[in-house]
Amino acid sequence: MPSERLVLRPPKRGHKILIAADGLRIPDDPIVPLIEGDGIGPEVVQVALQAIDAAVETAFHGRRTIAWYPVPAGEKAMFQYGELLPEATLAAIREYVVALKGPMTTPVGGGFRSLNVALRKALDLYANVRPVYWIPGMPSPVTHPERVDVVIFREGTEDVYAGIEWEKGSAEAMRMIEILEKEFQTRVRADSGIGVKPISETGSKRLVRKAIRYAIENRRKSVTLVHKGNIMKYTEGAFRAWGYEVAQQEFGDRTISWDDALRKYDGKPPADRVVIKDVIADNMFQQLLLRPEEYEVLATTNLNGDYLSDAAAAQIGGLGVAAGGNIGDAHAVFEPVHGSAPKYAGLNKVNPAAEMLAGVMMLEYLGWKEAATRLRDAVRKVVAAKIVTYDLARQMPGAKEVGTSAFAEAVVDAIHGAGA
Ligand code: NAP
Repeated sequence: MPSERLVLRPPKRGHKILIAADGLRIPDDPIVPLIEGDGIGPEVVQVALQAIDAAVETAFHGRRTIAWYPVPAGEKAMFQYGELLPEATLAAIREYVVALKGPMTTPVGGGFRSLNVALRKALDLYANVRPVYWIPGMPSPVTHPERVDVVIFREGTEDVYAGIEWEKGSAEAMRMIEILEKEFQTRVRADSGIGVKPISETGSKRLVRKAIRYAIENRRKSVTLVHKGNIMKYTEGAFRAWGYEVAQQEFGDRTISWDDALRKYDGKPPADRVVIKDVIADNMFQQLLLRPEEYEVLATTNLNGDYLSDAAAAQIGGLGVAAGGNIGDAHAVFEPVHGSAPKYAGLNKVNPAAEMLAGVMMLEYLGWKEAATRLRDAVRKVVAAKIVTYDLARQMPGAKEVGTSAFAEAVVDAIHGAGA
């Protein structure tokens, strides 16, 4: 039972981000809900805020600030209010549009498959966006990590993640098997578990639309549709077909298919066109390892994207520096990719870079590019100077190992143009 009644009060200063027909209206002092998370969450979030605030301050000299609005979720919310993801928290993010979060512990058992999945579903954050680029000095298992610079758009609401599945032997599974056999003349072993993979035109098109828009706005040369359509024709294959359709019907004057680029321009398309191409998922894994420089934006279904984004992150140094955004039509929640690593909680030991880079993504989403660049450059500078936390130090000969707060101090110094 909740031990306290939950009433959330927004900060006294600051203004709401507004959703207009043509995009977001960002005030100079947006109120941004903040979930500090569990385990190592509070410590990485706390130092990330110092770095984000310093970047905003030096970029805009006080003209812009963020009014952080702490909202509860996760273990602390469960303990205090009897709910892991209180409705008041969801309502705050709905109202204030853009949020930053730390990692949350997913309780084993219980009603939630994952708090993050629940958050994505409640706010319809259908695009999981993961930029993957190398920071000079980062230890990497590949010879040329500097060639990797892709942004992965992974669909986040459909596919085998829709949660439509039944256990072997359950009444539902048996019934499905019966229908498949009797009505569709297909044979499925009686001792099968059954899962459903829905991929819709709506879900696919809105994801690819977002990826193409991103490519146009950020002057990226190509969007690659990654799919397994050779095997799953009406789900993965349809995703590919719908992707080309969006490109042609909605961005016809700004995009060109690779086939047309070859046919009409001998493989050298005009510079103002984003090339739309497609690659089968298994091939994409080797392409990213062998010729990463040929890929800039990837748009893909949920399961492909899950595998691909972790594999790509490993190429540039792993989870310690990977950040992502869960983005809907307007709402967005930014977070590090790593989890709450409970065994390190409170030790001032872990790497806060991923949380800081989630902040970079958030600043970019607000359109505050000057601050985003300052923060990203400062993290780069500190890592290049080999001032790093234990996770990187153990792979970097000659590194100076520091704790979470000292790493953050070095980043803040670098933002101010000193140190590192
Ligand atoms: P994890 O928390 O990511 O930790 C796994 C390992 O990754 C750690 O033991 C540590 O490796 C390394 N690591 C993670 N974050 C690090 C950081 N900031 N700096 C340095 N090293 C870091 O994964 P997990 O142990 O599988 O999951 C723990 C909990 O987090 C679970 O409840 C899980 O469901 C949840 N989770 C949440 C999110 C999210 O909120 N988005 C994402 C993933 C998992 P070493 O021990 O080798 O140093």
